[in-house]
Amino acid sequence: MSEKKHIVIIGAGPGGLCAGMLLSRRGFAVTIFDKNTEVGGRNRPIRLGDFVFDTGPTFLLMKHVLDEMFELCGRRSADYMDFIKLDPMYRLLFSDRAVNVFSDRDKMRAELKQSFPEGSEGYDVYLKQEGERFKKLYPCIKRDYSSLKAFFSLDLLKALPSLALNHSVFSNLGKYFKEEKMRLVFSFQSKYLGMSPWDCPALFTMLSYLEHEYGIYHVKGGLNKIAAAMAKVITEQGGVIHTDTAVASLIIKDKVVKGVRLHNGTEILADDVVINADFAHAMTTLVKPDQLKHYSPEKLKKLDYSCSTFMLYLGLDICYELPHHTIVFAEDYTTNIDNIFHSKILSRDFSFYVQNAGVSDATLAPEGKSALYVLMPTPNNDSGIDWDSQCAALREQVLDALEARLGLTALREHIECEKIITPQDWELEEYVFKGATFSLSHKFSQLLYWRPHNQFQELDQCYLVGGGTHPGSGLPTIYESAHISAKLICQKHGINFGLAS
Ligand SMILES: Cc1cc2nc3c(=O)[nH]c(=O)nc-3n(C[C@H](O)[C@H](O)[C@H](O)COP(=O)(O)OP(=O)(O)OC[C@H]3O[C@@H](n4cnc5c(N)ncnc54)[C@H](O)[C@@H]3O)c2cc1C
Repeated sequence: MSEKKHIVIIGAGPGGLCAGMLLSRRGFAVTIFDKNTEVGGRNRPIRLGDFVFDTGPTFLLMKHVLDEMFELCGRRSADYMDFIKLDPMYRLLFSDRAVNVFSDRDKMRAELKQSFPEGSEGYDVYLKQEGERFKKLYPCIKRDYSSLKAFFSLDLLKALPSLALNHSVFSNLGKYFKEEKMRLVFSFQSKYLGMSPWDCPALFTMLSYLEHEYGIYHVKGGLNKIAAAMAKVITEQGGVIHTDTAVASLIIKDKVVKGVRLHNGTEILADDVVINADFAHAMTTLVKPDQLKHYSPEKLKKLDYSCSTFMLYLGLDICYELPHHTIVFAEDYTTNIDNIFHSKILSRDFSFYVQNAGVSDATLAPEGKSALYVLMPTPNNDSGIDWDSQCAALREQVLDALEARLGLTALREHIECEKIITPQDWELEEYVFKGATFSLSHKFSQLLYWRPHNQFQELDQCYLVGGGTHPGSGLPTIYESAHISAKLICQKHGINFGLAS
């Protein structure tokens, strides 16, 4: 490139950082703006005294996708981070049994046999058939769907039967597992997309398959180290990241994005703008209400969104005996799911997830202490729940549940510090539309060509990355969104994406 093209990226979340890394490697002048003091978005650390927590992501799936992004920058991820493969991957706690879930096939077969004496067959067929489905679908996930021509690709046509359009994840699993709880072991992962296994399209059965095939990783210091590593690569490659700098609006002329306007009034011009901020939040705040048709504020409100989460981060002066990841199922799981996704009310009997990363990583808390991360799925802010009045009572219920279901005796006496994030905080402080922490829902009518396009269809010189665009929410797919958008930008400027020097 004779003169460097300037790319402005709004947001230093996983999507923005990954795009920044790929583009700065390919000779673009990259400038990233983030409103927060630290990079990472929902993937940044929370520091309470000497305790460190991940704000959001704690499961690194498909580590090879992250490795590939570093390789595309001529680097090795292992030179920037220490990865720890978890074994077991996690523990599932039902009211009548506990199941440790392993990616090692022999250990998993033995565990299923022991935990489901009423009949544990189906695991091998499940792995084989879901593996085949994954191989057909993944090339489609890595593609761009910014035009109908791209949509009708040979890959997708071949994969159509694998989409199992008339099935949900839960019903799809019925062909492998008779026992309902066995199906839950392989379907609760729909919650990673903020969806109910009864509503989530069958193609996402691949989420549990991916865990069993590739394992789950922790990064020493927390998954926030991935964001820090990506920021380091960007800086090494000459990119610039401005934290504490919020973008107030896009500069748009005749449907073409010319740059961004910062909150202090400064205008920054760019050849292309990449939006990593939560899609619906960005389109309702950075663009005037009459500028978009398909994604106007009224239409955005009517789309389908994921659930939200109530978060409790506890710095404890004790180390409880708890696995790295524990998922606790409500005794009446189906009612809990119905409350979250359909009735949009809080359940007294609720499911929750606890991370006790200290068992694998001593860097997160001082010696003899521990950092506990608790996530309770809740309705998103369509619920109308008044979080200011509900928050304190819910905190007590969560602490009670931790004591009762996990045996964390005298928990309250051991809390040194804590932080809460409510669905209202996700919306008002983290800029997540409706507090829907996993973005637009992944129902079929909001996937592929029907998800906001990586090359945004309503504005020129504007690209999208992150959970709200194709392929969807979750770190590996977010990195793929950055990969797709970076390729499109290279293509536009006549740069061979594969020949980064
Ligand atoms: C509680 C929770 C748990 C999760 N667990 C997992 C998990 O275990 N594994 C997994 O793979 N995924 C998980 N996810 C999902 C997903 O990986 C993360 O949410 C991820 O951080 C989303 O990345 P993103 O790039 O889409 O956006 P974000 O992380 O939200 O980043 C967007 C950035 O844009 C910035 N921004 C917004 N507006 C502006 C503006 N106007 N000006 C400047 N900056 C702006 C924000 O400050 C933010 O830094 C989890 C999510 C949550 C919330």
